[in-house]
Parts: sequence; C-alpha cells; structure tokens
Amino acid sequence: MKTPFVTGKELEEIISRYPTPFHIYDEKGIRENARALKAAFAWNPGYREYFAVKATPTPAILKILHEEGCGCDCSSEAELRMSERCGIVGEDIMFSSNETPAEEFQLADRLGAIINLDDLTHVDYLEKAIGKIPEKVCCRYNPGGVFTLGETREGFQVMDNPGDAKYGMTRAQMAEAFTRLAAKGAKEFGIHSFLASNTLSNDYYPSLARILFQLAAELKAETGVHITFINLSGGVGIPYHPDQKGNDIAAIGEGVRRAYEEILVPAGMGDVAIYTELGRFMLAPYGHLITRAIHEKHTYKEYIGVDACACNLMRPAMYGSYHHITVVGKENAPCDCKYDVVGSLCENNDKFAIDRMLPKIDMGDLLVIHDTGAHGHAMGYNYNGKLRSAELMLKEDRTVELIRRAETLEDYFATVVW
Ligand SMILES: *Cc1c(COP(=O)(O)O)cnc(C)c1O
Repeated sequence: MKTPFVTGKELEEIISRYPTPFHIYDEKGIRENARALKAAFAWNPGYREYFAVKATPTPAILKILHEEGCGCDCSSEAELRMSERCGIVGEDIMFSSNETPAEEFQLADRLGAIINLDDLTHVDYLEKAIGKIPEKVCCRYNPGGVFTLGETREGFQVMDNPGDAKYGMTRAQMAEAFTRLAAKGAKEFGIHSFLASNTLSNDYYPSLARILFQLAAELKAETGVHITFINLSGGVGIPYHPDQKGNDIAAIGEGVRRAYEEILVPAGMGDVAIYTELGRFMLAPYGHLITRAIHEKHTYKEYIGVDACACNLMRPAMYGSYHHITVVGKENAPCDCKYDVVGSLCENNDKFAIDRMLPKIDMGDLLVIHDTGAHGHAMGYNYNGKLRSAELMLKEDRTVELIRRAETLEDYFATVVW
C-alpha cells in the first residue's frame, strides 16, 4: 500500500492555485531520509553524501539537502552553475562527468570542485585544460565483466554489465593514472565506481565497497599514493511497486562498516572517508506527479486520458517502469477496473500504466503518480510542443511554495529564429 504524502483536501486547495499537471515534493520526507542516511554512515567521520543533481536539478531541493549536510554531484556546466548559484561550491561539489569538455573542467576547477576522472587520457586532458593537476583528485573504476549479487528479497538477482558500460578505467589504468597524477603533484586520491542502478538489496553498497576497498589497499601498496576517500556513487534503489520492500539504509551503512573494518583498517587505511552520490534514493519517493483524468475511451481496451504526458515523466515510456497510481478520494475503493492510463503525445508509448487495476475513474478525478521525485521533472522534454510543468514544495509546516513555474509558450518560442 502506497499512501500519498499529501491529502485529497490539501490537493483540492493546491489545485485551486496551481493547475494540473505539476510535480510536488515533500520537504519533511526529504529531510528525514537525508538524516537517516547520515546516521547510517555516522561511524565514518569523513562521510559525505553528494546529491546527484541530475536526478532533481531544482535549487530549492539542493538547498534543503545542503542544509542537511549534503554536497552536489555535478556532471555538466548547468549543474555546476546551479550549484554555484545555490552557494554550494568548493569541496561541496563532486564533479563526476564523462566525455567532459575542457571548459567544464575549467569551471569545476574555478569553483574548487573535486574532479573525478573517467579515463586515463583525461589526466593529460585535464592538465592541459586547467594548467595544472589538482592536489585532490578522483578516478572512476570499471571492473569490467558482469556484476552480480545473489538473490535479493524480491527473489531477483541484481545483475549489471560494467564490461559494456562506457564509464571508468580498467584496473591497470587506475594504477597508471594514480602514478601519473602523483608524478604531476596530486597529493590526495579518491576511487569512484558505479556498478548497478536502482538496486533493492542491502548488499549492493557493501559488495561494491569490498571491491573498492580491496582495490584501494592494492593501489596504495603498488603506487604509494595517499587514498583519502572512496566514493560509492549512486545506485541504491527504492521500491516503486507496493509489493517491493525498501532498502534498510542502517543495514547498508553497517554492511559498509564491516567491510571497512575487515579490509581498510588492517591495511592502515582507517582514515579513508566514504562518499556517496545518491540521486534516486534521496528524492524519488518524495515527489508526486499530480494529474487529472480528462478523457475516457472504450475501444479494444479501456483508456483513461490524463492531462500529464511522458514529457512530464518519461520513465514508463522509456524504461517500461512501474509507477504506482492513487486515485484521490478512492483510496479505499475496490480496484476492479482495468485501465491504460495515457497521456496526449502522438506516441503510443505515452502510457503511465498498462492494464492497471484501479478504482473506477470518473472524469475530473485527480491521480497521484508516485515516486516521481528523481528522474521525473528532470527528464522532461518538449516533444509535441508540450510544456514542462511547475514544481511545488510541500513545506514542513504544510504550506505550499512554487519552486519552479510552469513553462509558457513564450519560453517554448524563445529560441526560435522566425
Ligand atoms: C546518475 C548518477 C548518480 C545517481 O544515481 P542514482 O541511481 O540516482 O542514485 C550518481 N553518480 C553518477 C556519476 C551518476 O551518473
């Protein structure tokens, strides 16, 4: 059972001020979750979460997370500029990009960000771009092959294919990069890796940590460099489906601690800080897309047409992702109607749900589409001339604030040369 964080009564009041569709975020949920994450890693004095800005590039959200002690993980000029405008600069920024233009390395360096190199060739590229090698620098590792975790609580195996991914360096390249960076003056080194996305297993971070801790101990022995941080990156997932069980972040932190005690401490590396770059875990459950049923259609199937479309939430169309739907005011009604819930794009994959059992939907009903707080508004686009929606914040005192207005036709036409 998934319950919206905003009540039907509150929504009626909100839609009298802001027309549907819109994304709304839950400040209380965001803060509580950020605190639970911090507590789970409190055993590590240098621990830091760098929020993956790409998941929800919205200044009001970056500021809330910054107040909770998080930095920003950026990977583009716009993300760096947004972070800067939020007052989040220096080592509060992790710049984890790939195929990076020289100008973006220059901007990251000017802001004092920690730069994470995706490839061995970027050592020289970075030096040429910024005229030096930073004292503190990170390298992204790709172990290759196939990464698997045994059965999760859902009975699925976590499996990803690092060998097919464009990111990161090989084992040999990591050693060479560290040696070359050290020769050019780098003093503090970090290791980063991202092996699997949206994992629902308390074992993902601990398993990844074991791989990276082992690598760190070996690289220290081989190259003699001082490794000061290990960045476990993103990938901790959330239960999109009500039957799935969420991750236990305290158990995850404890699993990483055990690996740390077993591998890093005996290697004389008990000063290593743990960093994370979570996006989905930080925000996905704390966002809803609110939309209204405006059409019903009975042909070979039963369709409900809503006023949002894939331009507001691309994940179902792009990945076939499940997003739970609550029909406001019918939370306890029997789910005895089978619908495709569809948007208005001239694209047949514009479906928020296919063959979904829901209560009988009447025209004008409000629908809450759950778990849209990460990779939701962020992946918005303008196909068919659809405009990106507003973003609202449900604050801790239950008032609502507009944190991004909806696009207008003037915005849409602004770049046209008539
Ligand atoms: C996307 C991304 C993240 C965040 O991933 P989530 O699965 O949302 O936690 C972190 N780091 C990098 C480099 C990324 O590209």
